[in-house]
Amino acid sequence: MSDLPRSVYVHVPFCRHRCGYCNFTLVADRDYLIERFLAAVDWELQQMPTSLEIDTLYLGGGTPTHLSERQLTKLFETIERRCKRAGNCEVTIEANPCDVVGRQETFKRLGINRVSLGVQSFDAQKLQQLDRSHTRNQIVEAIEACRSFAQSLSIDLIFAAPDETLNDWRRDLAELKGLPINHISTYELTYEKGTRFWNALTQGRHSIATEDLRLEMYDLTIAELANLGFCHYEISSFAKPGFESRHNTVYWTGKPFLAVGPGAAGYLNGTRYQNTQSVIRYLQQVEAGMSPVFDLDELPPMDRAKELLAIGLRRINGIAENDFRDVSGLSFEQCAQNALRKLSELGLLTSDGGTIRLTARGVRLYDSVAVEILGK
Ligand code: SF4
Repeated sequence: MSDLPRSVYVHVPFCRHRCGYCNFTLVADRDYLIERFLAAVDWELQQMPTSLEIDTLYLGGGTPTHLSERQLTKLFETIERRCKRAGNCEVTIEANPCDVVGRQETFKRLGINRVSLGVQSFDAQKLQQLDRSHTRNQIVEAIEACRSFAQSLSIDLIFAAPDETLNDWRRDLAELKGLPINHISTYELTYEKGTRFWNALTQGRHSIATEDLRLEMYDLTIAELANLGFCHYEISSFAKPGFESRHNTVYWTGKPFLAVGPGAAGYLNGTRYQNTQSVIRYLQQVEAGMSPVFDLDELPPMDRAKELLAIGLRRINGIAENDFRDVSGLSFEQCAQNALRKLSELGLLTSDGGTIRLTARGVRLYDSVAVEILGK
């Protein structure tokens, strides 16, 4: 590893059940695999040629808090053996609102200082529709419990759920008022092949919200969260000043990061890689002493630069040409002259003092911007 990563992602692929819209790499209700998973992560980390000093550690899933306190402790001990945390290391855990209360001391002892709570909604009916097992009260209690150990608390919210109206979403957003959270990630519900929601869609039991409604919901999100003091700093992310996700910023700025666990995707030495997405195959491969990586993508410099540009534009402050050149070795023009000119003419991009960023319209139409830059 010539360019040593200072960020680590660990994918914890266990959940109580699979929510109807979810196609993440995970197994539901198969907790007997957890010990094998812990041993596999240990093996993966032992394959690193050197120990790391890290600035951010992110446990995602799945539901990392589905692990027992003993299992979480073991996982942290495993990580710690190979990844020394720098003094102000950001340590994030994705948590189910049902798993927090009563475990604060353990989270604190493990040095977890940031929680990403899978809230999705405050509305009982919407939660039920999304197959979420928590209630509004459990969310509020979990948020309160996080205050005792987390310096930063983020919540995830989903909009454009089946039959959701603009007013329903407005009511959900109104619930945020006064809550002690400093980061919000919002996602439009997507229908992924192989999920129960996908089946419901193809059988006509669900219908996708119209594009107009989805854009209205997004506009409302931006406006309401601004009223609550959240700065829109990335397409799907909002933060109070100083509480932007440091870990995710590593992704958006093209820095290297190590990723372990089934389905985990990392970026090292200019190469993207992904571990096998089948949890069972991942375990079997590692137990046989074989690398679980199934996809290695050593991108040509131009492709890598285009990706960096497209991802970097997700940040509302945009991307500075100097930073871009430092990472990619190319100027904006060398990378995507025609696409950038076209996007500017369409009013989706603006540039100022060597920095390009999305216009307000470009923010709403980010997917089209990315497609144009990537040339796909
Ligand atoms: S809790 Fe999250 S990761 Fe687990 S099944 Fe539901 S949406 Fe997927």
